[in-house]
Amino acid sequence: MRLDYHMHTRLTDGTGEPRDYARVALERGLDEIGCSDHAPLANRETDWTMKKADLATYVGWVREAQREFPQLPIKLGLEVDYLPGCEVWVRELAAMHSWDYFLGSVHYLGDFPVDRSAEDWKGQDVDARWHEYFALWTKAAGSCLFDSLAHPDLPKKFDIHPQFDFTPVYHEALRVVSEAGVAIEISSAGLRKPCREIYPSESFLRLAREFKVPITFGSDAHIPQDVGIDFDKAVVLARQCGYDKLCRFTQRRRELVRL
Ligand SMILES: [Zn+2]
Ligand SMILES: [Zn+2]
Repeated sequence: MRLDYHMHTRLTDGTGEPRDYARVALERGLDEIGCSDHAPLANRETDWTMKKADLATYVGWVREAQREFPQLPIKLGLEVDYLPGCEVWVRELAAMHSWDYFLGSVHYLGDFPVDRSAEDWKGQDVDARWHEYFALWTKAAGSCLFDSLAHPDLPKKFDIHPQFDFTPVYHEALRVVSEAGVAIEISSAGLRKPCREIYPSESFLRLAREFKVPITFGSDAHIPQDVGIDFDKAVVLARQCGYDKLCRFTQRRRELVRL
């Protein structure tokens, strides 16, 4: 099965509406998609997240697309930022609609934006930022607030890497992921970024497989034309690392299906 569980709409930093993504997904032969626009943050409005008042519009758009394309399962998801102290808000969000899944993401370390621009990384202690990122990502995994964790090694986006072997950090992070029973996303978005590499790296994904961590797939499309893009490469990577199944979600219940 080919499932793309990560895409954004014009309510946030994407373009188009769920129906536009569905149309392209059908053309590309995908079996299922999931919309995962950026959830509002607890107490701050941004130009890249939905406003709380947008949630009803977003859910309405997904429901309309479901009616318009009955031949394509379209899941109702959200990409939700994990920020310290966000737990109460994320649980509140979870109770608002019958979501199919939550993708957990770390985009911010305090005020530091991980993936906004290479400029932001100038003068940073790269090793420390990577450590900080994975500490928060591991907490997100252990929070049990999410069904899958998006773009796991996001700090590599600008091809800026730590100076030492990160394997022990990955090991600890994936141990927590595995115990929490959460999935991780294989994201083709990295191929369109300066790092030119799928998130996560092959070494990370091999370790994830050893820990029996299940996977989802995402393009992180911000334009409809990117739905399912480079999934051939993402599937090859998953198979190389030993995966033959992926997960789909329905009302936050997980089901494993053949890759
Ligand atoms: Zn993201
Ligand atoms: Zn995204």
